[in-house]
Amino acid sequence: MAPATRSQSVQAVCEEYAKSCKQFKKRKLNWRSKKKSLGWIPFKGVGVKVEADTITYNGHTFKFWLSRPITSKVRFGSFCQDSKGHWFVNLVVEYFEIVRPKTGNAVGVDLGLKTLATLSDGVEFNRENLTKKFENQLAMAQRVRKKKRVTAIHAKIKNKRKDWNHKATTAIVSEYDKVVVGNVSSSKLIKTRMAKSVSDAGWSDFKQMLAYKAIKLGVEMKEVNESFSTVTCSCCGNRTGPKGEAGLRVREWICSSCGTVHYRDVNAAMNILRFSLLGITG
Ligand SMILES: [Zn+2]
Repeated sequence: MAPATRSQSVQAVCEEYAKSCKQFKKRKLNWRSKKKSLGWIPFKGVGVKVEADTITYNGHTFKFWLSRPITSKVRFGSFCQDSKGHWFVNLVVEYFEIVRPKTGNAVGVDLGLKTLATLSDGVEFNRENLTKKFENQLAMAQRVRKKKRVTAIHAKIKNKRKDWNHKATTAIVSEYDKVVVGNVSSSKLIKTRMAKSVSDAGWSDFKQMLAYKAIKLGVEMKEVNESFSTVTCSCCGNRTGPKGEAGLRVREWICSSCGTVHYRDVNAAMNILRFSLLGITG
């Protein structure tokens, strides 16, 4: 959806919501079941007052944790509740295009399991395997049927992953004018015995975040078919690399055709960039 259409539809929802509230003389609408309150309250910028880390809505002032300073006018936003019942406030502020000097750099990104993102210039972005890290804690909480604890651990993993994604994607878009990623699909690998690592990698969230940050900074982002990116020599173009699932364990190899020494993921990232430059997208 185009950003303009999206903001229009959000605004429409806010208006509809305000109308319903007025109609039923309520501050908050309920689900039909009446058991559960609606964990989402949209509002328009004119209806709230935001000062540093406090927000006044409907005569009530709430303090919130400020993730980043608000420097421009709030257009609209919402209060939302997570599965633990915690409330968050999201604010959509007036947006001014940020112009950063062009770097002229293009990069290919190989999204993997061992190294979550490897760039064609050799830079690596590593993150600990969060699923593995919290595996025991989670199993224990599940065994003693501590539902709240299970939810809390899941939320913790999600937040840590999101935070890492933010840092890595920001670093990428601030450095390169063109970013090419592979069409790595989780569904393709999810059936293999690496399923746990695949779900931990969260490639689609990473790509989504990268895409919106790229738009914001005027960075060109492309997605290419990454088939053969790991087995093709980025130097001579011959498919001389290690193949199959066993080949995944080979981190370093020498091209039998041209003799170039390759680091598996860096070579894959170089190919991803090369495919895009050659116009091989499908
Ligand atoms: Zn070669």
